[in-house]
Amino acid sequence: MSLLNRQLRLKSRPDGLVGREHFDLVEQPVPELGEGEILLRVLYLSMDPTNRVWMRDIPQYLPPVAIGEVMRALGLGRVVKSRSPHYHEGDLVQGITGWQDYLVLHDSAKGYVRLPADPGIPLPTLLGAAGMSGVTAYYGMTDIAPVQPGETLVVSAAAGSVGSIAGQIGKIRGARVVGIAGGADKCHYLVDELRFDAAVDYKADDFKQQLKAATSDGVHVNFENVGGEVMRAVLSRMVIGGRIALCGLISGYNSGEKPSDDYGIFVMKRLSMRGFLVLDYTKTKEAVHAITGWIREGKLKTEETVAEGLENAPVVLNRLFDGSHRGKLVLRVDAQA
Ligand code: NDP
Repeated sequence: MSLLNRQLRLKSRPDGLVGREHFDLVEQPVPELGEGEILLRVLYLSMDPTNRVWMRDIPQYLPPVAIGEVMRALGLGRVVKSRSPHYHEGDLVQGITGWQDYLVLHDSAKGYVRLPADPGIPLPTLLGAAGMSGVTAYYGMTDIAPVQPGETLVVSAAAGSVGSIAGQIGKIRGARVVGIAGGADKCHYLVDELRFDAAVDYKADDFKQQLKAATSDGVHVNFENVGGEVMRAVLSRMVIGGRIALCGLISGYNSGEKPSDDYGIFVMKRLSMRGFLVLDYTKTKEAVHAITGWIREGKLKTEETVAEGLENAPVVLNRLFDGSHRGKLVLRVDAQA
């Protein structure tokens, strides 16, 4: 009996939060494999803020997902059939799998990484701290705006996937680390569990006072994930010559709000800011090696929030925007995984 593949295809472009109504759930038989092809069973999907950006028809670093196309997403799959000498049944493969149960892949396809069948790390962590999120944090903290011992680092969206690792790398590098997150629980998590030096609740009425108190000597490095009001508040606390690793601007991904046109502060404080994308990084192996080493040594804590069911992907994605997750948000597609 042939296998059925469920796919979520973009039906219309969301304006605001994403819903099931923006996708068609299509079922079709998995095709027979040609020479050099493999069949991947998608196990987990990485829920990423950039998924929301890809749904919008705006200029961006990859083409927007077309109407009718399977939603693009990073995922982790297992080879269940192979007609390639390079992949074996049981191998794990990471790359763009899309919002679907199965993917047929030619072994010449670029951008896919083969991992050992038993990587010795929980599978969701391979998409989080030991994967794309961790590498992004490492890139920002070691190459884009390296923080020096004794300096103050401020990380926004600090209880999330990239931010929680960036802040912990800052601690490993000897910085004083201040995290910004929404709500008291997340702030306690940052200080009590991740050992940040201070945490500031951007949803509190006295956010700016909290930030000022936590950064009394100013901010040397800002690892910025949010933009908007949060970023403006951090910029006002930067020291002269401060550096900003601009990783993301999530506050505008749903609303489409422009981050800022006010560059005056960059002149007054002689700030430097560098945007970066993990897909340009050439030291991914070094980053994964360092991060997995820190995890094993107990220097770096990882956390994942695991949601269930391919059909729930559109709704689960919204958890990145309402903040109802901690660490890396992943979706389990294969209940047996
Ligand atoms: P997270 O796990 O950090 O989830 C997003 C978090 O952002 C939420 O938990 C929420 O935390 C916070 N948030 C959402 N909306 C707002 C808002 N309006 N104002 C303030 N905070 C908000 O996601 P990721 O770690 O995957 O991504 C974090 C950032 O990193 C994003 O900007 C993303 O685009 C960027 N990124 C960039 C990459 C690159 O190559 N440059 C690669 C990967 C990610 P809270 O509860 O605290 O509000």
